[in-house]
Amino acid sequence: KDGDSQKVILDINKKAALFYHEILKKPEGEKALSYLKARGITEETMEIFKLGYAPDNWESLKSFMLANDMPIDYLLKSGLLRKSEKTGNYFDLFRQRIIFPIFKYNGDIVALGGRVLDDSLPKYLNSPETEIFSKRNNLYGLFQAKDAIREANEVLLVEGYVDCIKLYQAGIKNVVASLGTAFTPEQARLLARYAEKVLILYDGDEAGQKSALKAGEILHAEKLQVYVVLLPGGKDPDEYIDLVGKEDFLTFIQNNKISYIEFKIDRYIKNRNALYLEDKIKIINSIKPDISGLESEIARDYYIKILAQKLQLEENLVYRELNRTYRPKT
Ligand code: ATP
Ligand code: MN
Ligand code: MN
Ligand code: MN
Repeated sequence: KDGDSQKVILDINKKAALFYHEILKKPEGEKALSYLKARGITEETMEIFKLGYAPDNWESLKSFMLANDMPIDYLLKSGLLRKSEKTGNYFDLFRQRIIFPIFKYNGDIVALGGRVLDDSLPKYLNSPETEIFSKRNNLYGLFQAKDAIREANEVLLVEGYVDCIKLYQAGIKNVVASLGTAFTPEQARLLARYAEKVLILYDGDEAGQKSALKAGEILHAEKLQVYVVLLPGGKDPDEYIDLVGKEDFLTFIQNNKISYIEFKIDRYIKNRNALYLEDKIKIINSIKPDISGLESEIARDYYIKILAQKLQLEENLVYRELNRTYRPKT
């Protein structure tokens, strides 16, 4: 990869983010500004996250960039401009969308995300993968949150941009969002540089809980201490904090967080209507890698106790099952 090329693409992203950010304060951005306010986002927060608006125009960014002598090949490489196959014309990727700049941990803006103002689809659109941006290596909000994460030695992991922004605004600043897709080991290692504990606060719906299990597995495998909170009524953190306010939100988390391993056991148990012996054995075996990966014997012992309790089995039976190596008859 060419360092100069990366610099140009970085510069384009920064200029684009600021261009869209300024539009929020202009008449063209009125609709977007009231949308953000209606969602409870303050102007101060809009500044911190450099939120913006891409207006209803196919060429607003294009005109701005070309007027500033930015080279068209790099504009295409950034993904923020696209080329029409039919006409050969260049046009803006983002139109009529709220813009969420995606910062790298060091403050560089490496990509943009955009949300529609209504119910049209796709709801969110991000910059494509580029020379300076890969989803799997970035976390939304990390740049803004990193000091708070270090201080707390804990990070809250949410699904959505708005979840992240709303918690931050409420003063819960140690929060980051995964970028829509599956959480990656690279993202886990990135978090491990700042904290030992991760609290997964994904949406309370079935999809969110499923992703929470996968993210938990990855974080746990990277030796982080992982906790999960299941929000009531299928809500996401943005909706829930609006509903109950900061204090009750924090209290709820405090009273309802469970370790990732307990969360996994609970989910397996809930997904079966009756627990036959065979089910219990299956559950023990799917938890096996999570428990045997724990370095501390005290921790292993602790989870074996919990597992035995939840499955209503004798502890030393569970212990033996976990340590058993199955040798098929030859
Ligand atoms: P909002 O509160 O603005 O309606 P949300 O964050 O609750 O949105 P979800 O449907 O819960 O939206 O999705 C969670 C996150 O997943 C989004 O914030 C976004 O980062 C990402 N995402 C959702 N849909 C898409 C999509 N079509 N393409 C890319 N990313 C997406
Ligand atoms: Mn500003
Ligand atoms: Mn959501
Ligand atoms: Mn939401």
